[in-house]
Amino acid sequence: MRGRPERIELKTPAQIATMRAAGLVVAQGLAAMRAAVAPGVSTGDLDAIARDVLRAAGARPNFLGYHGFPGVICASVNDRVVHGIPSDAEKLAEGDLISLDFGAIVDGWHGDSAITVPVGEVSPEIAALSATCEASMWAGIAAVRPGARLSDVSHAVETSIRGAGRYGIVAEYGGHGIGTEMHMAPHILNYGRPGKGPRLTSGMALAIEPMVTAGSRATEVLEDDWTVRTVDRSWAAHWEHTVAILDDGPWVLTAEDGGRAELGKRGVDVSALAA
Ligand code: MG
Ligand code: MG
Repeated sequence: MRGRPERIELKTPAQIATMRAAGLVVAQGLAAMRAAVAPGVSTGDLDAIARDVLRAAGARPNFLGYHGFPGVICASVNDRVVHGIPSDAEKLAEGDLISLDFGAIVDGWHGDSAITVPVGEVSPEIAALSATCEASMWAGIAAVRPGARLSDVSHAVETSIRGAGRYGIVAEYGGHGIGTEMHMAPHILNYGRPGKGPRLTSGMALAIEPMVTAGSRATEVLEDDWTVRTVDRSWAAHWEHTVAILDDGPWVLTAEDGGRAELGKRGVDVSALAA
């Protein structure tokens, strides 16, 4: 967007520590759901697990009631990309691929993260689709540092996906700033040339979330006004983490280890990073 740059919320270290608490609730919920994914389990069952995690942690949901959304998670199976509504009627089957998107609020501060999980055994092509999407998310996170430009993150995500094969990179949806609200400035494209957009500084927090399809990138919204599906019905994957920018680099608030293991593999000096 041209003209006056969007204001990006800056957090104090204490506020980021509260976002870390929210992020750990999200990580815990996703781990519990991942462990429960199996043939015959419904997406409504997974939503109930996430509600229990929120309740036990004393955290609030940020998805429930968001523009009227009825769940605390989004559950998007196979050709559904994002924003699927959890339902007791929708049962998982062997070979399905489900993306689970979950968020939590602790003391007014938001966390947001998504994983894609195979139901039983999936084909090698579908496993590669999810692995490509996850790797691109980590490539984007590895590009997060004070002084980088926002589109450096976008470019890192795109380069990672393009290097893995012929995939669709969903363009209608992307990452976002996060903090006192779930969706804040800036919008983060999952593709683009490097060196553009606002300069990243310590105190920002970003949700980085590539959505990758096995076919075309084109999507459509179904009649429920929420569920996003690929137009060509190719399957899709979605991975997301909430990342705070510290002086020393990224702190992955929704990863239990703060992102150290995956960032270390990608050449980020993690010795000084928060955990
Ligand atoms: Mg999300
Ligand atoms: Mg998000």
